[in-house]
Amino acid sequence: MWPAFDAPEQQFDEHRRRMVREQLRGHGIADERVLAAMARVPRHRLVPDEWRSRAYDNRPLPIGENQTISQPYMVAIMTQLLRLQGHERVLEIGTGSGYQAAVLAELAAEVFTIERLPELGQRAAQTLSPLGYGNIRFGAGDGSVGWPEHAPYHGIVVTAGAPAIPARLVEQLLPHGHLVVPVTDGRFQVLHQITRDPDGGFHTNRLFPCAFVPLIGEQGYPPGGN
Ligand code: SAM
Repeated sequence: MWPAFDAPEQQFDEHRRRMVREQLRGHGIADERVLAAMARVPRHRLVPDEWRSRAYDNRPLPIGENQTISQPYMVAIMTQLLRLQGHERVLEIGTGSGYQAAVLAELAAEVFTIERLPELGQRAAQTLSPLGYGNIRFGAGDGSVGWPEHAPYHGIVVTAGAPAIPARLVEQLLPHGHLVVPVTDGRFQVLHQITRDPDGGFHTNRLFPCAFVPLIGEQGYPPGGN
């Protein structure tokens, strides 16, 4: 049974615990800090009311403006790939609902998140602030070029699919920092982890196929396609 959208918080807590146990730990997410963070973030508060009862299903959900909140497993794996310890400054491209930003805020010292659609960015900020996420800075605009004013970052996560590895983002990484980004490769998107080497170069891990809405902007796709 799914909880009604106005069900008591403890019913959602129960669904969230099951999500962590079955969808995340049960499918190989092993970073205990990531699991604990996702056990805390109230995902049901970040989806539209009509989808609240399905908030802990292992699937993306619509959040308006033709955009989606990513599936919990994908959020977990992208977060795990950043290898956060707690002291880091992290940049997220594509605030959307604010869920990934909240997970990052549980795990890093400072989170910068940028969204090109102002209505989504504002809604996420309004929802997260009363939940006590004081270490998130919200930006509006084209995040495909990063957020250079606050660079460099220990980690960058892009929650939209890019046509190629965005060079401007790699430049904003600290040595040993990771950029996690879905990149179109032929007919599919493939999740990439790019790590900045201490000599200024970088190396790339191609991971597995994924499906994200397009990254729109200077280092992304031209507007009009979404
Ligand atoms: N991280 C989000 C969450 O936790 O709900 C999910 C994000 S959704 C899959 C992708 C988001 O990226 C959309 O909200 C979209 O508007 C945004 N986006 C696409 N291109 C962008 C760009 N160049 N800069 C910032 N945001 C962008």
